[in-house]
Amino acid sequence: MLCLASLTFAWLEDITVTLWNLFLIGQSLEERCNRILRDMEGSLTARDRVGLQDFVLLEAYTSESAFLENLRKRFHENLIYTYIGTLLVSVNPYKELGIYTKKQMDIYMGVNLFELPPHIYALADNVYRTMLTESNNHFILISGESGAGKTEASKKILQFYAVSCPSTKLMDNVRDRLLLSNPVLEAFGNAKTLKNDNSSRFGKYMDIQFDHVGGAVGGHILSYLLEKSRVVHQNHGERNFHIFYQLVEGGEEDLLRWLGLQRNCQQYSYLVQGECAKVSSINDKTDWKTVRKALTVIEFSESNVESLFAIIASVLHLGNVKFIADSRGYATLNSSPEIHWLSKENATVLSPFTIDHAVYARDALAKAIYGRTFTWLVNMLNESLANKDSSRKTVIGLLDIYGFEVFNVNSFEQFCINYCNEKLQQLFIQLTLKSEQEEYEMEGIEWEPVPYFNNKIICDLVEEKFKGIIAVLDEECLRPGEATDMTFLEKLEEKMAGHPHFITQRDTFLTFCNLSLDHVLTIFHLQVMRQSKNAIVQLCFPTTEPDSKKRPETVATQFKSSLVGLTEILMSKEPWYVRCIKPNEGKQPGSFDDVLVRHQVKYLGLMEHLRVRRAGFAYRRRYQIFLQRYKPLCPDTWPNWKGTAAEGVQCLVKHLGFKPDEYKMGRTKIFIRHPRTLFATEDAFEV
Ligand code: ATP
Ligand code: MG
Repeated sequence: MLCLASLTFAWLEDITVTLWNLFLIGQSLEERCNRILRDMEGSLTARDRVGLQDFVLLEAYTSESAFLENLRKRFHENLIYTYIGTLLVSVNPYKELGIYTKKQMDIYMGVNLFELPPHIYALADNVYRTMLTESNNHFILISGESGAGKTEASKKILQFYAVSCPSTKLMDNVRDRLLLSNPVLEAFGNAKTLKNDNSSRFGKYMDIQFDHVGGAVGGHILSYLLEKSRVVHQNHGERNFHIFYQLVEGGEEDLLRWLGLQRNCQQYSYLVQGECAKVSSINDKTDWKTVRKALTVIEFSESNVESLFAIIASVLHLGNVKFIADSRGYATLNSSPEIHWLSKENATVLSPFTIDHAVYARDALAKAIYGRTFTWLVNMLNESLANKDSSRKTVIGLLDIYGFEVFNVNSFEQFCINYCNEKLQQLFIQLTLKSEQEEYEMEGIEWEPVPYFNNKIICDLVEEKFKGIIAVLDEECLRPGEATDMTFLEKLEEKMAGHPHFITQRDTFLTFCNLSLDHVLTIFHLQVMRQSKNAIVQLCFPTTEPDSKKRPETVATQFKSSLVGLTEILMSKEPWYVRCIKPNEGKQPGSFDDVLVRHQVKYLGLMEHLRVRRAGFAYRRRYQIFLQRYKPLCPDTWPNWKGTAAEGVQCLVKHLGFKPDEYKMGRTKIFIRHPRTLFATEDAFEV
């Protein structure tokens, strides 16, 4: 075993693929060694072909072209993962690669990050083991633009934990619920967009809680800003949330009859605007079955499930309610069947609305109902995942938040989504680039600072008190009736004049004030909803809710506060990163668009991260922890070292033969330049 292990280190970059295949084929050790030796001869060619598995090893590490070249080479060899130290870069292959099997999971369990070819399982396993040994909390930030593979990555991580963690009956139960919360949330929160057939239209942060032996014992989900406007409006080529189509296509005959629905999406105004109810990559019927089953496992009661689908159906009926003008120009109802299905009651409330107002109010109600039901759903999932036992737990948080998106026409939603991504980039900068450099300074390690673009200026532009875009938007929202998108734009142009990152484009500027006001419901709507017999609606529209707030918070301000909360959650944990890259706009396997990828490499700050990593040290540990772990390797430090921890570490590294340029001694920590040094040290245990 030792022989194979040390060969692995020495030739790591060159024979990655060979090793990889060998593990899969499951040959005997002797056969494997022979094969490795044979492959070493051809290793240079292999390396040329498959590229380097860690960008840190790139000679021309400052060259963006070399970076791209490496990524492209690996992509064409179906090697979609590459490291930058402990950060994982993933390129969406848009095809099944057969690399997520149980066998693969077994291979990656308990193995050091750099010992095997890069994989999302390797990262997941490392985070898990670090959490167990250090008894602290972690999070994995998965970022990248829409369609880059964030949600898939987060599912792979969850599946890995589901298989690799210790198991008891209780834990199996939690595991099933964690896994099945995904199809449910995706049904209600994901939709086909122009960028992605399964695009997350809400942000998701999920904590997985582990007990002291590493068993998954609970979970908690936080959701961020669901794109409610999609319920009533979809752009061409896009769909409403999956659940509507699943219900219409897959719902049982009895259920549809009870809900008054027809098995035909074309019948529903809220489903036809994008003119693409059917999508080849989506099977709504099968997905319906998955969701139904998931709801049962998560232990939603039958009556809750009925109430839930009654709400979905009522939103569809609501969308079909049409108005015509009466003799005075006020809106009257043009259709009664929908109203019958919606209300099943006879009370009539008359309210003098113009047609425009009536349509606006109808859509506002549909959005409010759907949005509040989504919140209820997340709460239910959380109840089902909650661990009530008070023993100490550690957590791994998974953050899968909507990626950057730029369409031809961008609205308030894109503003929020992209602002959120800027905030996460700022967090990344603070936690890695900035803190890394500050740490070297604090520890007294000699260091040539690496320049990087700090996007704080962009975050400030959006969120600064009194001055930022959100503050201006809030001001405008306080003048309903007077303020329009145009007055908002003019105010922005006046206030932001001269800001280096602010330009306006009048023709693509839409519906900000409206959407940030969240379509405040009329008192009539609230009163009607409160009388509903539907149990979920009763919870979503409680009688305790005030009819109108003096100054309702705008959506932008609510979102800003929720991001501040998220940042606080993340700052208290150890960060890990998966950076997802989209190789082409056409969702095509095998196609690598240089310009598109280069752009993402740039804005994800990968080159800067690499420069910091390369100039710095891959691994650092407090002297006490390092000494504790490795003191058995040196007779002078084992079993008890009498001096200070720093002196003990000095003695240890001398004994282990670390070369002077391989490590540096800081004030409180040892810094090791290359992971290889650490592996060799770990390996020494086996001798
Ligand atoms: P959004 O921000 O729109 O939610 P996303 O980054 O979450 O986008 P995903 O939904 O994860 O994107 O991925 C889009 C599609 O790409 C998936 O539905 C799947 O078809 C494909 N895909 C992503 N990752 C992989 C992978 N590792 N292997 C195979 N296919 C993948
Ligand atoms: Mg997603």
